[in-house]
Amino acid sequence: MKICTISFHSCPYSSLGGNGSGGMSVYLKELTSALVDFPEVRVDIHTRARDRICVEAKDISPQIRVVQLKGGPERPVDRKNLYEFIPEFAENLIDYIHRKKEDYDVVHSHYWLSGLAGAFVKQELGLPLVHAYHTLGFLKKRALDHREHKNRIKSEQYLAHISDLIISPSAEEKNCLVGEYGISPEKVKVVYPGVNPRHFYPGRNASIRNGFKCHKDNTMLLYVGRIEPVKGLSIVIDALRLIKENNPSLSEKVKLYIIGGGEKEEELSTNEEVSRLERTIDRHGLKDKVIFSGSIDHLQLRKYYSAADALVVPSLYESFGLVTVEALACGTPLLVSQIGEMKSIVIEGKNGYFFRPNDPFSLWQSIEKMCNHGNGLWSRASIREDVIQKFSWDNTAGQTRKIFEELVQKPLRSKTIFRPDESLRPV
Ligand code: UDP
Repeated sequence: MKICTISFHSCPYSSLGGNGSGGMSVYLKELTSALVDFPEVRVDIHTRARDRICVEAKDISPQIRVVQLKGGPERPVDRKNLYEFIPEFAENLIDYIHRKKEDYDVVHSHYWLSGLAGAFVKQELGLPLVHAYHTLGFLKKRALDHREHKNRIKSEQYLAHISDLIISPSAEEKNCLVGEYGISPEKVKVVYPGVNPRHFYPGRNASIRNGFKCHKDNTMLLYVGRIEPVKGLSIVIDALRLIKENNPSLSEKVKLYIIGGGEKEEELSTNEEVSRLERTIDRHGLKDKVIFSGSIDHLQLRKYYSAADALVVPSLYESFGLVTVEALACGTPLLVSQIGEMKSIVIEGKNGYFFRPNDPFSLWQSIEKMCNHGNGLWSRASIREDVIQKFSWDNTAGQTRKIFEELVQKPLRSKTIFRPDESLRPV
């Protein structure tokens, strides 16, 4: 089975860390490497060239190839400004398929921009299209009235209708696709992402705490992820302010370590959300309580997860939240806003506590509950065991391959040219 994967705006095999890369790159890399455990699977990942193309196609392994194609300027461009380059990229992709006589069985697109490129390929070559949104503009807008690209939601609706199948990481996203985008439930398959137990496991990491000047009696709260408003970090800062005003002895102990936002100093200093958070931190005199570390290499993260007393995930919207399962695989409990799939991942008192989304008061109470629970009362081994039983990339890949196979074997599938409904076609 030959899979034509499209990851237009980011390449999973380039370094993880910039504020733009995140869960989708981790997802693609882990899924691809688990898919090629099936000897008959080959995956070509098509991505936009970010510098002058020297090598068009590069083999990562005998079954994985990365193909860089021109789609807009050959330099890094914020994904918000990439929409207009999709037709150029799609034409180059179709040209590549013809030139190399690639006989792909299925197109697998990731994020709405890649989905639109996939739609071009589907129309031109009649290949089945399986799409994964990774985040839904509609749900993001509902959580936070933030300006998204003007064509995003309409394009997502269009993709919902023209894709042959949609793979979704959560029941909430499926419900939204069915309820708001009006597509039939049979067309959306919920497939959970996994966690890599060899990358994420518990361990004593006193050196990390020492490096952070975090005493063993301190409560080390950790945040890992992109730094942008929808991730809700300001709620944690507000909760720290409430603790400082109302519970000085707890305030003495609590510290927040923030990982993400870019590898380089410049990336952090030009991030508007970081500046906004820093102003709030200064205003409330919390400077000694909050440490920004910038992004950390994915494979180094386990040390930080296992050094922390809890991972805090204050998101207003989360399509799944890979960081939750990574921390749990390290045996670290969670403090999460009660939204999306996180509602099914956390069992209160067993592997963490909830708080009401966008509610610093509720987070403060959860931090207190966690401190009263006491570090020694969590069973780190069973926290890990439960999560790795439930979430595995092998399962994700097995289910994904089955979906592709059933689609490819559909008796009536022919490589006919597909013309989508004009009313939905994005402008
Ligand atoms: N991540 C990383 N280094 C960092 C910050 C984040 O490797 O400095 C990874 C993290 O381990 C996780 C992903 O980025 O796998 C974030 O995924 P998540 O689903 O939590 O959020 P998303 O980026 O999809 O919104």
